[in-house]
Amino acid sequence: MVVLVINAGSSSLKYQLIDVDTQEVFAKGNCERIGIDGSFIGHEDKSGKQKIDISLPDHKTAVSEVFKLLEALNIPVDGIGHRVVQGGWYFPESAVATKEALAQIREVAPLAPLHNYAEADVIEICQNLFPEIGNVIVPDTAFHFNMPEVAWRYPLPREVADKHHIRKYGAHGTSHRFIWRATKEFMGDKTHKLVSAHIGSGASLCAIHDGKSVETTMGLTPLDGLIMGTRTGTIDPATVVYLQREGGYSVDEVDVMMNKKSGLLALSDISSDSRDIEEAADKGDQKAKIALDMFSYRAAQLIMEMAQSMEGWDTLAFSAGIGENSDTIRRMICEKLAWTGVKLDLEANKVRSGDVRLISAGDSKVAVLVVPTNEELMIAMDVQDLLG
Ligand code: AMP
Repeated sequence: MVVLVINAGSSSLKYQLIDVDTQEVFAKGNCERIGIDGSFIGHEDKSGKQKIDISLPDHKTAVSEVFKLLEALNIPVDGIGHRVVQGGWYFPESAVATKEALAQIREVAPLAPLHNYAEADVIEICQNLFPEIGNVIVPDTAFHFNMPEVAWRYPLPREVADKHHIRKYGAHGTSHRFIWRATKEFMGDKTHKLVSAHIGSGASLCAIHDGKSVETTMGLTPLDGLIMGTRTGTIDPATVVYLQREGGYSVDEVDVMMNKKSGLLALSDISSDSRDIEEAADKGDQKAKIALDMFSYRAAQLIMEMAQSMEGWDTLAFSAGIGENSDTIRRMICEKLAWTGVKLDLEANKVRSGDVRLISAGDSKVAVLVVPTNEELMIAMDVQDLLG
């Protein structure tokens, strides 16, 4: 089955055309600056990479242009899978995009306004343009839907939490689900209690007990948990009120500050990209060093939180941009976990590869892996399951 995977944002639209059976990627790309001056499509297929400068006034134009590019390949699309950031209180798993499901995506959109509205619009656009092709909703929250109540409930007044649907929803669920599958395949029956570490520009951990998410670090929104490229992660929630009351910042200013101007960017004063920070730290930059120290300190702390929620752990899997590529940050995190019996094989940790690989020493109490994530393939597999 050939599936088009779409990941729509408010001004962007990423896509991949995948054969689920062979896992071959026929084409992929990104429509950038939709509705903004200077829009373009970065497209790649067997004939190479190209940047196409093209007016993309809205998502409908973007979808049409992507399909034009795909038509040239002469590979019919059998189904479309849509990443949806927030499934709210409706989606314990992926679902066929019926009218009712679309209404639910819009109903929960206040929890992720920059994404959900655009994603629902794009699904409708696909349905209208190509009524013969089925669409599947793959919410990033679904994997965490059935976490135990002790994990998802917030200790706020019940009537407030219930009225506003405030709870831990988590995120990166599709990636954590893929990481579990790939880890299980690699480790066989040896893995039961996995701490999955999706560490990229956005970052979250997930405690996965026999395939089920039982705890995760992101909360009501993807701001919670680990320090991220530009996000604070967990800080005292009273900071929000204090900044408004005493600092004179507006609600929106605090929102932008915590989501876009904090994290590694703020700590290092250099960049949100870990590569730039590692380079500066190597040259002796003190702020870069403290940024990496804090990043790995928080990660190690929260990895223990995940292990605690399963009352044990046997496997740790690093994934996403930083987790897959930075042997320095993996080493810094694992050094802080040494007291628990985690021990890296430092040579194996340095190996660069696109494959799942073991990087722990033979006498490590916990198996440590690098697991390249593939959310697009996971989404395509869900489409095959539901439509195939
Ligand atoms: P992601 O959000 O998963 O695409 O991850 C993006 C982040 O991963 C970047 O901002 C970098 O901080 C980091 N990253 C990507 N590639 C590398 C690399 N080769 N070495 C170190 N860090 C990397």
